[in-house]
Amino acid sequence: MQQLIKNLKLRGFTPRVFETSQQAKDFLYENLKNTTIGMGGSVTISELGLYQLLKENNQVYCHSFDHSPDVLKNAALAKIYISGVNAIAQTGEIVNIDGRGNRVSSQIWGANRERVIYICGINKITKDLHSALFRAKNVAAPLNARRLNLKTPCAVKADKCYNCNSPQKICRVISILNNPTSAAADVVIINENLGY
Ligand code: SF4
Repeated sequence: MQQLIKNLKLRGFTPRVFETSQQAKDFLYENLKNTTIGMGGSVTISELGLYQLLKENNQVYCHSFDHSPDVLKNAALAKIYISGVNAIAQTGEIVNIDGRGNRVSSQIWGANRERVIYICGINKITKDLHSALFRAKNVAAPLNARRLNLKTPCAVKADKCYNCNSPQKICRVISILNNPTSAAADVVIINENLGY
């Protein structure tokens, strides 16, 4: 963990480590008020109940909870963007997969973006970039494909990637974030297993 924190700082991220989900939620609740927040689809975000929590004091857009027609556009235009991660290497790179690109594109750029917040359980930490990419493709993607009931070969047993070109492919985009691209980038690390 110390190595990860050191490397994240060297890369320009702001790591914030919490022992429990509740402590992380308290931090986010106190620090995010009267702003617009976009969220990508994420089991971690769902498990933490962040949409419901942050909606109390903010305008929050997340297509997993809000099916209004403009939600994806409004999430992309939000000042704050919150995302889970599929893997984070101890060397500090953040890896994410995406089926349609809304999540990874919003992590990288947004017209009004002031801050991106990555949420990460300790189960997402890997030794290096190679193992982070392996995890994203062979662990996170199949489990998410099965959860979403997609017609992909990896969804059947959720055991590995089968390198498909299925119409419902969940990993059309794989991003490696080496350094933050927004003014502020927090990496919230929670000492619990969260999401896939
Ligand atoms: S390439 Fe196909 S089989 Fe492999 S993780 Fe992506 S959707 Fe699943």
